[in-house]
Amino acid sequence: MKTIVALGGEGIGPEVVDATCELLLAGGVPVKVLTAPHGEAALKTHGTPVPDETKRLCHQADGVLFGAVGGPASVAVITYLRWQQDAYANVRPIKYYPGAASPLTNPTGIDLIILRENSEGLYPGREGDLSDLARALPDLSDRAGKRLGDFGEGRFAVKVVSRRGTERIARFACELARKRKARGHQGKVTCVTKSNVLRRSDGYFREIVEQVVQGYPDLAYEHFYVDDAARRLVRFPQSMDVVVTMNLYGDILSDVAAEAAGGLGIAPSGCLGDRWAYFESVHGSAPDIAGKGIANPTAAILSAAMMLEHMGLAAEAECLEQAVARVYRDGKALTPDQGGKATTKEFAQAVLAALRNG
Ligand code: ATP
Repeated sequence: MKTIVALGGEGIGPEVVDATCELLLAGGVPVKVLTAPHGEAALKTHGTPVPDETKRLCHQADGVLFGAVGGPASVAVITYLRWQQDAYANVRPIKYYPGAASPLTNPTGIDLIILRENSEGLYPGREGDLSDLARALPDLSDRAGKRLGDFGEGRFAVKVVSRRGTERIARFACELARKRKARGHQGKVTCVTKSNVLRRSDGYFREIVEQVVQGYPDLAYEHFYVDDAARRLVRFPQSMDVVVTMNLYGDILSDVAAEAAGGLGIAPSGCLGDRWAYFESVHGSAPDIAGKGIANPTAAILSAAMMLEHMGLAAEAECLEQAVARVYRDGKALTPDQGGKATTKEFAQAVLAALRNG
């Protein structure tokens, strides 16, 4: 029996995580589900959004499932889960399940991964007053010759691209593409940057990815600028396999690609480090539908499937994903974002029935 810790977060987070955990338990998946104080509630009861007891439980557990981020207290939770644990690889699978509400004419066969570098780039936010930066770097100018001091009052954000950070995400991309190739995928790494404009920073990311990819002669490789990549993800999503990119680009491109495959309601993710992982939907707290019981729990269920696979329960993960796919094919129990009328719980019950009949 494995143990998982479920942290709902805010908005629709607790709704989709609860539905997912009930499904796992009712479906006979060999896991024990623990919850732990976190976020706004923990701030009130423990004086901190991530109490020590919660940290301990997460570290002892075999898997951690998180719901969604809303206000500052849940941001503190993902700051802990993601950045403080150095979960540098954000794996965001984008897959079309026949029956899902894709806006594309032919979404069949969309099955790719957006691999977002999760630990540096422009996140988690190093910002300040432009005047401070201008004082520190008085000679720094852009390609048009404009210096920082010429802008007057303003702010700045720092984008970090380190060799270590880029090498490890590039290796992760290659290993993932190799693993997928063994399962019948293309075996291709697509690097996405804006190296034509940001020659030193994005150019460095691209250069290092290309050095690492050379060590994987069995894989195909291509590079696109981020604007072109956004277009391609809508126009030719089936041509992509593993797309490796920097933090902000990955954040945006994964929403674009998720929408192409059927929407945010069905996009799962995992954040992995060398000795740490947690899993969460790509979507946020969806304040517009929170509390109505109509959120689509597919993203959370598929995130749980990724978690099960990571925990060594690959067969259970596969059955769960197949059950979700059957519910989409059948089309009778879809949530409103997918054009149906089912509630969160009704969808989860349909997945449970498909799991039992599988
Ligand atoms: P946040 O600020 O927490 O990120 P947001 O509204 O900006 O919230 P999302 O929560 O990702 O961003 O939601 C974007 C849109 O997608 C909203 O209209 C929301 O209702 C919809 N959406 C997101 N997740 C789901 C879901 N699981 N089921 C149905 N609709 C969803």
